[in-house]
Amino acid sequence: MDKLAIHGGKPAREALLPPNYPGAIMYGKEEVEGIEAVVRSKSPFRYYGPDLQYKVRELETGMRQKLEVDYALGVTSCTAALIVAMKALGIGYGDKVIVPAITFIATAGAVLCCNAVPVFVDVDESMNLDPNDLERVMDDEVKAIIAVPILGNPCDMDPIMAFARQKGIHVIEDVAQSAGVKYKGRYQGTIGDIGAFSFQMNKVLSSGEGGALITKSSSLFERAVRYHDQGLFRDAELYGITPSGIAMNGQNYRMSEITGAVVLEQWKKLDDIVGRMQAANRAIRDHLEKQQPNMKFRDCPDSDGDIGSSLSMIFPNAQFAAQFNQALNAERINTVLLYGGKPVYSFPQFMNQQTGEKGNFPYDYAFRNPIRYTMDMCPRACDLASRSVWLPISPLLDDKDIDEISNGLIKVYRGLI
Ligand SMILES: *Cc1c(COP(=O)(O)O)cnc(C)c1O
Repeated sequence: MDKLAIHGGKPAREALLPPNYPGAIMYGKEEVEGIEAVVRSKSPFRYYGPDLQYKVRELETGMRQKLEVDYALGVTSCTAALIVAMKALGIGYGDKVIVPAITFIATAGAVLCCNAVPVFVDVDESMNLDPNDLERVMDDEVKAIIAVPILGNPCDMDPIMAFARQKGIHVIEDVAQSAGVKYKGRYQGTIGDIGAFSFQMNKVLSSGEGGALITKSSSLFERAVRYHDQGLFRDAELYGITPSGIAMNGQNYRMSEITGAVVLEQWKKLDDIVGRMQAANRAIRDHLEKQQPNMKFRDCPDSDGDIGSSLSMIFPNAQFAAQFNQALNAERINTVLLYGGKPVYSFPQFMNQQTGEKGNFPYDYAFRNPIRYTMDMCPRACDLASRSVWLPISPLLDDKDIDEISNGLIKVYRGLI
């Protein structure tokens, strides 16, 4: 058997894998030309200018058409999209929002930014929100669920939607990591009340920073537009919406035309990028299933909907996962232990309810059912996060890369088991 690189053997690959920036790494002349058009027009603001190019509006149209929803709104980030979504839904002080125990910090942080508090539910073997754990945290102070398809895999939306309908609460889909992910043939983001997208550097499509939200509801859209633009609703006519005349305070989360120009070109590449990642992911999975059938991966409620951006392997224990991760990196197959192997609620602003605000607002609210967090409240998340290793799948992997990765994974697995 080949000696592992970690023990001084020859690495499975000569070079590191392409960096994990699927959208940015696919930049071409289209993005350059898009930015150039905006700069030449001297009109970098979306609502007016001497020669407005309407890049953000065109992006929104592209999103609406592809996702088959009536409304899309470009914003500055997915964090902004989540905040705008909750503000549109009227969520605020005294409310609770359900967040899965495995997600990026921004999902739970956005809830606090809206003056509500997150309550955490466990994940199932798919490492996404476990619909069977929702009842545990449910009370009449809970106003919404944020479902997060983590690293490319869809959430099990049918039971989540059924639960939400039965309780009369809202569903937001945080698809930041998984643009293009589908559940039973439907794009995620279109199933709940509002879907939130990110175009930050690590995401499937990128402009460095950026985000968007989509909805089918004209009233939610009006509130979202107003919150993202200082309370204004400038394009009502364009959407055929008669403004309700509601007065509300807002923020500035408007997307610039330069960002819009880049995301517009990226949006056109979504199918290509997802198709490449899916093909590479399936090829690696096929190798492994043939040659190492006892290797275990996360479950998926609809594997056709997986965008393939990551291959997640689950090992018998945390020690093995850490060793596997280290040994693979020595083979120049750069894997990661996601979020340090910890649930999101372990961050002190949640765990210790220390927000940096006066009186630890909004945790100071006198909830009828007080907020109590413990480190082990979501045991499956703690367990699975600690013993999983994630291999990012770049859209740029070629056949040679796929062979080297597959062989490297098998080499390390056999070398350590
Ligand atoms: C990246 C990410 C966000 C935040 O996106 P930004 O555009 O960086 O604000 C939110 N939720 C999840 C699940 C993410 O991965």
